[in-house]
Amino acid sequence: MERFNVRTGSRTDFVDITGEISKVVSKADTQKGICLVFVPHTTCGVTINENADPSVRADIAETLEKLIPWSGPYRHLEGNAAAHVKASLVGSSIAVPVEDGRLCLGTWQGIYLCEFDGPRTRNVYVQLLRSL
Ligand code: ZN
Repeated sequence: MERFNVRTGSRTDFVDITGEISKVVSKADTQKGICLVFVPHTTCGVTINENADPSVRADIAETLEKLIPWSGPYRHLEGNAAAHVKASLVGSSIAVPVEDGRLCLGTWQGIYLCEFDGPRTRNVYVQLLRSL
């Protein structure tokens, strides 16, 4: 398994990690399989979405904020309940098929670490599962 860190820049931040994941896949020389990307955190997530127009990421962030506002009322006393809820909705892992040694992402797809309680340094785990 490969790991790398991502420094996020604000409370809510979508960081494009497609390049780092692609590097891991290239280095591993896995021709065919599945690339699992996992974030071991409870207030950030990982997702795949549009990589061309940054306003899509802003729309996702703003829609999540409307659905799950930062100030509650919430029971969690740490003050970051909204970040926990958003992280659960987005999810902590994605799986991308690998073929011919490359991620099978669509033309407009990028992989994003979704920060909901930053700025922080986050860990990303990448596990390649080879097909026979
Ligand atoms: Zn908390």
